[in-house]
Amino acid sequence: CGIVGYVGSQSALDVVLAGLKRLEYRGYDSAGVAVIADGSLAAVKKAGKLANLEKALVDRPLPAGSTGIGHTRWATHGGPTDANAHPHLDNAGRVAIVHNGIIENFAALRAELADSGHELASETDTEVVAHLLADEFAVCADLASSMRAVCRRLEGAFTLVAAHADVPDLVVGARRNSPLVVGVGEDEAFLASDVAAFIAHTRSAIELGQDQVVEVRWDGVTVTDFEGRPADDDVRHYHVDW
Ligand code: GLU
Repeated sequence: CGIVGYVGSQSALDVVLAGLKRLEYRGYDSAGVAVIADGSLAAVKKAGKLANLEKALVDRPLPAGSTGIGHTRWATHGGPTDANAHPHLDNAGRVAIVHNGIIENFAALRAELADSGHELASETDTEVVAHLLADEFAVCADLASSMRAVCRRLEGAFTLVAAHADVPDLVVGARRNSPLVVGVGEDEAFLASDVAAFIAHTRSAIELGQDQVVEVRWDGVTVTDFEGRPADDDVRHYHVDW
């Protein structure tokens, strides 16, 4: 329901949590965050209000890190449980993804993944994306190109944001039939389902077009379509008035 991604010079955990708070008005039934620090990825997720997540983070603190993603969920497939909350991880725990929307062909993808030895830890339509991304990344070691390959296989509506421990200074987003905006700051960048998540930090925004993938780094943003063709000219740059 609400998505925040961050890469930059601040504590990713703090920025992501503050962003999720700004998206609270949209309503949600669970929340979670994942942070990359020191070459590894760690996630905490909880059913219920953000206060539950913050409590869980006291019991199990995450490193500050400079790269993070977060989600508030409005369950469509699988009840509002800790296990079904986002982020979802691959079996190696190297990639984390958050998703808004519905992946219509998830059942076929789940069956295919189970057949090839993946262990699915949730009942969501979303989790397939984490496993598919991990498989693609294992071959090409390029997160954006992995995201493009996965998106070409998905049907339905999705805003996706992913981070991989092997490429710690990068967050990748993608969208189809669901919104995704990028906030461009100095030595930092944001991805979100709504500009409200980052306007405290920057008013310089980019609205992603349909079927586009964005790579977000400390020093810049690159947009392509799902085939990998440059799409930087097809995006809308604007200044957020609030
Ligand atoms: N369909 C996904 C789920 O149920 C995402 C829901 C959302 O947009 O929050 O987990």
